[in-house]
Amino acid sequence: MYGEVRSTQRLTPSMVRVVLGGGDLDGFVPIPYTDQYINAQFFPGGAPYTAPFDPAHFEALNSDHRPRGRRYTVRNWDDNQRELTIDFVVHGDHGYAGPWAQRAQPGDCLQFTGPGGAYAPDPDAAWHLMAGDESALPAIGASLEALTPGARAVVLVVVDGPDDELVLTTPGDLNITWLHRRSAEAPATLLPDAVAGLDFAPGAVDVFVHGEAGEVRAVRKHLLSEHRIDGKKASISPYWRRTMTDEEWRTIKSAWLADQEGDV
Ligand SMILES: Cc1cc2nc3c(=O)[nH]c(=O)nc-3n(C[C@H](O)[C@H](O)[C@H](O)COP(=O)(O)OP(=O)(O)OC[C@H]3O[C@@H](n4cnc5c(N)ncnc54)[C@H](O)[C@@H]3O)c2cc1C
Repeated sequence: MYGEVRSTQRLTPSMVRVVLGGGDLDGFVPIPYTDQYINAQFFPGGAPYTAPFDPAHFEALNSDHRPRGRRYTVRNWDDNQRELTIDFVVHGDHGYAGPWAQRAQPGDCLQFTGPGGAYAPDPDAAWHLMAGDESALPAIGASLEALTPGARAVVLVVVDGPDDELVLTTPGDLNITWLHRRSAEAPATLLPDAVAGLDFAPGAVDVFVHGEAGEVRAVRKHLLSEHRIDGKKASISPYWRRTMTDEEWRTIKSAWLADQEGDV
């Protein structure tokens, strides 16, 4: 499946919004999860093809030229316009997806498979805790929009600085804290420390925590050990790993997740 870039917008210094339309998006079937994501395909420089391409041809390609898959949350699906919105963190020239989004122009194509996903806010929860970094903002934004009116949401998001904050709207009762890594002495512990400092309201909490692997792991450990959160019910997972490309991260991810089971 593929779409053509209809527009791009620099939302903040660290985030670019890309709206895709046309292509064969008429056939896109959304799923009822606010963390629904696509697996988008990006080409290494010099690859002898462009999107849309036939995946059956990949096997014949030199491995240096095969597309690189990257997961991205569906920030919004417009059923009438058949348009898909994705918010990409731009993090420099290293990698494929971030640099692609930084350079994307109307008419460029993005091919993908999906969507997949698993989380939507639980309407029966007493309150919602959502935490993460910029990469989780699309899912947090979509989840906040899906809250039942008045539902209480406590949200903690790490971004570089005040310019990277987004306006998030919700019918719920939102208490959001932005954490700024640029001015922090220990950026990697900002999120876990902020979660550890929360006053936990009574009642069942619906948990969504995603972002950088080390930070997510520290938050998970705190929630499971100190608040007896059920790790199987909570939506907690690492989206990316600092200093590693997605390919490098996926190589160790299973072992990392298995090891994490010993944290609590
Ligand atoms: C289910 C799921 C949904 C996701 N949704 C989104 C989304 O909606 N928006 C989004 O931006 N990301 C999202 N991500 C994260 C995204 O897939 C990764 O960040 C991915 O590695 C980016 O690929 P890249 O080609 O730009 O960089 P890579 O080639 O993977 O990495 C190049 C370098 O950039 C670093 N890097 C990668 N991501 C970041 C980052 N976010 N901030 C700073 N440095 C980084 C790496 O550590 C590495 O050093 C999601 C991940 C998952 C698993």
